[in-house]
Parts: sequence; C-alpha cells; structure tokens
Amino acid sequence: MEIKRNPTRSVKIGSISVGANHPIAVQSMTATHTTNIDATVELVNDLQRAGADVVRIAVDSDKDAEALAEIRKQTTANLSVDLQENYRLVEKVAPHVDKVRYNPGHLYHHEKQRPWQDKVKFLADTAGANNCALRVGVNCGSVDPGQKELFDHSDSISPMLASAFEHCELLDAIGFSRFVVSLKDSDPTKVVEVNKRFAEKRPDVPLHLGVTEAGLPPDGIIKTRIAFEQLIGRGIGDTIRVSLTVPNSKKSMEIESGRQIIDDIRNGRLRSVVALDPSKLNIISCPSCSRVENEAFVELAQDVKEMTKYAKDYAITIAVMGCRVNGPGETDDADLGLWCGPAKVNLKRGGEPIGAFGYDEILPKLRQELDQLIEAKKLTVG
Ligand code: SF4
Repeated sequence: MEIKRNPTRSVKIGSISVGANHPIAVQSMTATHTTNIDATVELVNDLQRAGADVVRIAVDSDKDAEALAEIRKQTTANLSVDLQENYRLVEKVAPHVDKVRYNPGHLYHHEKQRPWQDKVKFLADTAGANNCALRVGVNCGSVDPGQKELFDHSDSISPMLASAFEHCELLDAIGFSRFVVSLKDSDPTKVVEVNKRFAEKRPDVPLHLGVTEAGLPPDGIIKTRIAFEQLIGRGIGDTIRVSLTVPNSKKSMEIESGRQIIDDIRNGRLRSVVALDPSKLNIISCPSCSRVENEAFVELAQDVKEMTKYAKDYAITIAVMGCRVNGPGETDDADLGLWCGPAKVNLKRGGEPIGAFGYDEILPKLRQELDQLIEAKKLTVG
C-alpha cells in the first residue's frame, strides 16, 4: 500500500530530497564528542551503512566547527548540524554540511538587542550561500519565551505552533524556501496534535517528525510508533528520527526502527491501539548527543528504569537528561527530573531543585523522592 502524502514542497539535503513525493527520509544523530574526529567519523559512517539518509552532529564551539571540517572530508554521508545558542557559528559550519537546524527558542540568548528576525535572515543568507537547507526545530523544552507569554500556561501547544508559523512567514517573506519544520515533544499525543495543526495550516512545508526524549528501547520505539502511525498514516511527515537512549554501538537502532515503523505503516501493520496509559509510570530520557556530560548517562537511564519498576502503577513522570544545556528546561514538566553534569547528577522535584549528587548517590536519593511522591499520591487518593 502506498502512503498518501501531503503535497509538501521538495527540499534538497545533500544527495537526497525530502518532501513532495520523495521517500520519507530517516535520520539519526551522533552522540560522540564532535572534537573526537575518529569516533565521530566512525559513528557517522556506521549510521550511513545502516541506511541513514542524513546524520546530524551537534556543534557548540569553534573547536567543534573545526572538527566538523575534518569530519566532512572523511565521510560521504549527508550531514546536518544542530546549532544551539551561538547562531553565528552557522558561518563556520554551513560550508561543511547539507542542512542546519536552528531552534527559535534559542535565538534569544546571544546578542539580546538584535531582533530575532535579523538573526534568522543571517541564518538563511548563510545557508543559501552555502547550498544548505534549514530546519526550524521547535522543541517543547525550549519554546520561545515571547510566545509562551502570550498563551495560558496550561497550553503548551499553541506557543510552539505560533513560533513555527512566525518563522515560516519570515522565511517566506525573505524568499528562502529550502526549509523544513519540526515540532517535538516528549508526549506522543502532543506530537500528533501539534503536527496535525501545523500541517492543516501549512500543508506545503515539509515536516521532520520525532518524539523528543522518547527514551530507552523498547518503550522509546513504542512511543515514537504511536505518534508516527497517527501522523504518517494521515500523510504528514517527510523525514523522521526515532530518538533512543542507547550507547553509540547501538545507535543504528534509530535507523532500523525508523525504517521498520515506515514499512509497517505502509503495509497496514498498525499497533497504536496500545496507546500509552497516562495512569502508569512514564520514564523519558534524551537520546544523548555530543553534549552529554558523562559517559555514564546511558547506564544511568537504564538503572533509573530498572530501579523504578516498583512504581509502575503510579502516574508519575521521571525525566533523565544527558547535559546541563537542555536538561534543566526539558525536565520542567516531569514530576522528578535528573540531568547529568561531569561529576554530579542534578535532581529536581517539579520545578524545585533538590541538589546535585554523585553518580553513586543518585539512585538512593531518587528512590527516596519517588517514595515520598507515591505516599503523597496515596494520601490524595485516600
Ligand atoms: S539533553 Fe543534552 S545530551 Fe541530551 S540530547 Fe539534549 S542536548 Fe544532547
């Protein structure tokens, strides 16, 4: 069965194109330190062999950008780069990649006086001059604060949409059409809703789909599958990433599971009747990237999952993140949030910081907090 797709425009990313009726492209991202050129090249090439259409690399510094130039020479993979706050790095990275992702919610940190519109124009001009596509990557954990202010606190979807729409309008106005949009959340039902609403208004713009911080397999694959079945089954989605918390040696699982999900949808093998049960424990964890601050992160996420099994029947969300860049923001909506620093793991309860604990201390501390939360829930129910 052919999947009927939305009539999006075609966007070229290196040797492939996404959108229009091109096959849905499958992506992954490296989690090596970008400055470790050999390890990064090895992972990029592994992912390419596994069938990755595009491989993304995080670049946060001049040193990362220098390493990227070397990585480019050693691989034929289509490369994308993820910019964080320092949008000006685009000048250094664009000559070496095929696509640049920027996050509208991160354009406020540097050069606060400069209007975001100027910054986007700079990004688009630089991408255009270097034969690069752009991705406007909106993420639930780092939505543009200016948009958040305009909506009720309980509505997380409208600010994401408003941010995506205003960036599309600006790119349209300056005549830059080689872009895709992503709207990611860790909750698959929100991913479905936000992407459906975006596609209704902008059916022309290709969408990159993903459930952010989907977590460890198999749960991370199930969450992603739920969202993708609902969206791709409706013709929405031109490129995808399955974000999994796995060690680098197993990163190709992101590609294999992505292809499997597309194949299953194409053949009518849908499984999303097993919708996520909101009355159960939900562990979310980031897929890690070059910003991960301690190699022990993946193991920590696995240990958290194992240790918290006893709480499986409680409606509690625990978020485990790999770094201090995105960890604090992306754990905001969780009941308990952890994010890794080089020597300590930070812990918070809702929005309230509890402290930083050694890697050998964090699990008992987390258990203590979880027990208290369960007791509080029992009291509320009782
Ligand atoms: S939370 Fe940090 S380490 Fe994890 S994927 Fe996001 S940026 Fe990378």
